[in-house]
Amino acid sequence: MKSFGFHSPETLEEVFALQGKFGEEAKLVAGGTALTIMMKQNLVRPSEVISLRCLPEFRDIQPENGTLSLGALVTYSEVEASPLVRERIPVLAETYHHVATLRIRNMATVGGGLVHGDPNQDPPPALIALRARFRLTSPAGAREIPAEDFFLDYYETAVKPGEILAEVRVPRPSPRSGQAYLKFLPRTADDYATVGVAASVTLSADGTKCEEVRIGLGCLAPTPLRAREAEEVLRGQELGPEAIREAAEKAKAITDPLSDHRGSADYKREMAEVFVRRALEQALARARQSLGRSG
Ligand SMILES: Cc1cc2nc3c(=O)[nH]c(=O)nc-3n(C[C@H](O)[C@H](O)[C@H](O)COP(=O)(O)OP(=O)(O)OC[C@H]3O[C@@H](n4cnc5c(N)ncnc54)[C@H](O)[C@@H]3O)c2cc1C
Repeated sequence: MKSFGFHSPETLEEVFALQGKFGEEAKLVAGGTALTIMMKQNLVRPSEVISLRCLPEFRDIQPENGTLSLGALVTYSEVEASPLVRERIPVLAETYHHVATLRIRNMATVGGGLVHGDPNQDPPPALIALRARFRLTSPAGAREIPAEDFFLDYYETAVKPGEILAEVRVPRPSPRSGQAYLKFLPRTADDYATVGVAASVTLSADGTKCEEVRIGLGCLAPTPLRAREAEEVLRGQELGPEAIREAAEKAKAITDPLSDHRGSADYKREMAEVFVRRALEQALARARQSLGRSG
């Protein structure tokens, strides 16, 4: 590994000043679980590393006007253990719980995972299904991006040089809705998924139709995907087995996975269809339970 200077600024202003001084020579680090591997493999060779770990900001999980705000420096294990997350958006706790091992989850941060931009990660499909928005900040100001517009290509995101991912804002789901994240893991429990699918279904007030639906896909293209055509099949319809099957076929049609040691591209496409169907069924069952409780 190339030698590098290490900086531990204690304010956001210092972070921005260091980024301004070193420009593209510098890399931010949060949990370090992805960056250190990339550096050891010489895939990135920063001459300066700026740690975000001493910043007091971005460490909280807070309710805010109908959303839950996850600071970028919150760790995966903090998300999975948070009573607020478990009570308000349980699928988020389930999703983060499914990542790797506890040792990784104790270090990896919400922001670091997203900026890493690996299309095989678990949280992005769930955040797409949950209509999350990501807040970026820089000396020029702040902006928000919907989760589905954040990922541009393999390991490439919408974060511009000099920007920091500050916060992930997740709207609290409607009481008539249910969510599911399913991770297909044919190898070991701590592996990356072969296919990851998240679904969120909101029922009409009388419970007969699908008022709103979102489907997020992971491991199935150069970026996490939102399966809009599949959603269109279901929106406003009764969610019977036929409609769900048709939606799963539509979702499969937009996938473009790579063959690797977790499965061939053809196998992953087939599994995409199966897991979209199952995720929709589970989200629907949870929406019905939730409607039963609230009605
Ligand atoms: C053995 C192993 C198994 C894994 N298995 C899984 C799995 O099954 N599922 C899964 O989803 N993930 C898995 N991961 C990946 C893990 O999710 C990522 O390594 C982790 O999310 C990265 O978070 P971090 O905080 O450590 O990021 P870092 O390594 O600190 O940073 C990653 C990138 O983000 C940038 N960055 C960090 N924070 C910010 C910020 N706030 N603003 C702007 N840029 C920032 C850094 O400059 C760097 O480019 C695994 C990782 C390992 C090592």
